[in-house]
Amino acid sequence: MTADPMQRQGLEAFRQEVRGWIAANLTDDLRDAAARATSVFVDKPHAMAWQAILHRHGWAAPHWPREYGGTGWDETQRHIFDSELAAAGAPSLSPMGLRMVAPCIMRFGTPEQKAHYLPRILSGEDFWCQGYSEPQAGSDLASLSLRAERDSEDYVLNGSKIWTTHAHFANRMFCLVRTSRDGRPQQGITFLLLDMALPGIEVRPILTLSGDHDFNQVFFDNVRVPQSGRLGEEDQGWGVAKYLLEFERSAAYAAGLTAALDRLLASAAARDFGEGGTLLDDPAIRRRFARLYTDVHAIHAAEQRMMAAIARGRSPGPASSMLKVQGTEAQQRIQELAVDIAGPYAAPHQFAARAAGSNLPFVGPEDDLTASARYFNGRAASIYGGSNEIQRNIMAKLMLGL
Ligand SMILES: Cc1cc2nc3c(=O)[nH]c(=O)nc-3n(C[C@H](O)[C@H](O)[C@H](O)COP(=O)(O)OP(=O)(O)OC[C@H]3O[C@@H](n4cnc5c(N)ncnc54)[C@H](O)[C@@H]3O)c2cc1C
Repeated sequence: MTADPMQRQGLEAFRQEVRGWIAANLTDDLRDAAARATSVFVDKPHAMAWQAILHRHGWAAPHWPREYGGTGWDETQRHIFDSELAAAGAPSLSPMGLRMVAPCIMRFGTPEQKAHYLPRILSGEDFWCQGYSEPQAGSDLASLSLRAERDSEDYVLNGSKIWTTHAHFANRMFCLVRTSRDGRPQQGITFLLLDMALPGIEVRPILTLSGDHDFNQVFFDNVRVPQSGRLGEEDQGWGVAKYLLEFERSAAYAAGLTAALDRLLASAAARDFGEGGTLLDDPAIRRRFARLYTDVHAIHAAEQRMMAAIARGRSPGPASSMLKVQGTEAQQRIQELAVDIAGPYAAPHQFAARAAGSNLPFVGPEDDLTASARYFNGRAASIYGGSNEIQRNIMAKLMLGL
């Protein structure tokens, strides 16, 4: 935060403006949907309803350049905005369009692609999913094999993608396909933007350990994608793919983590620890909170540095790997602490019964209802976007020169 008193006053006024606007526009059902979400993703109707409200006010994509619909805020203002949203319990927006494919379209797209896709991403008219992973290509993404063969004006796609988050909601997919087997595996990959309604696409659900339907396997049987859907050059999609991954991994963590910690602290302070004390009188619990708040402050500082670099037109670079590791591991430690604080109230069957429509009253504090489902779902955070082992390999190579 800036030390200049005038600027500080300006930022405080900005914070009050954002807080007031959120209080006036965030409806109870949107807040409830976010409170009940056990996955990083809130379900599509609520996420899109909230995006529409933000969009009407010009706040759907503060991180975008102003020429495409961004707000022109600096990184401190964006952090204030994120913090206020998180503290108010607003639903998260789907990142696949706004945060992942949009920066790639801005950088690699033709003028026609920019004019067509960017406004639709901003308004929520298009909902995107990510077709990177395949049954035989995860960490070793360059070994992907979904075939795309040219036939007159189209590419004809055959193969499948897996772990495709929200493919069952999406009307668009950005997708990596194999257009050549010559040279290194990275050289024959092409980046396509495609319509999920094309004939020959089939989406089959995969349920997670937490009981959520977040992701799918998507099958392609002679799917014809017009060549106008190619982003960048044929066989050069690896550069676009890596650029996108840096944005995927550089999600802003600090604001959400701080809000989650604050809520958990309040919840621990409300629990009986015997003799009139609360759970916060337990030194082991206090130490865990202290450690987590310290970690989250460090993540915030790293995030600010990276946001400043992005604002100067740089890509996030390998710092995004560091942030992904730190952010997701802190998130998992918060979820573990939530389960420990909830104790027996974290029993997973209570959430499962509620999700299945049971009217039985929930036993225990309302906050505990989602603790175990969030814990299970949170295991995925150190896997998606490239596993944390792979991020450590990237840091070792690019930051430490090992
Ligand atoms: C919730 C969730 C949502 C997802 N959403 C999407 C999506 O929308 N679109 C999409 O395309 N993909 C998605 N994914 C897939 C995700 O990107 C892959 O799961 C991830 O890249 C790991 O690949 P894999 O599952 O094939 O594991 P593998 O690559 O088989 O890895 C298995 C284990 O081995 C380790 N390992 C592998 N190679 C190395 C190495 N060289 N050094 C050290 N350790 C290594 C890994 O860290 C991991 O622990 C999602 C995954 C999850 C869990």
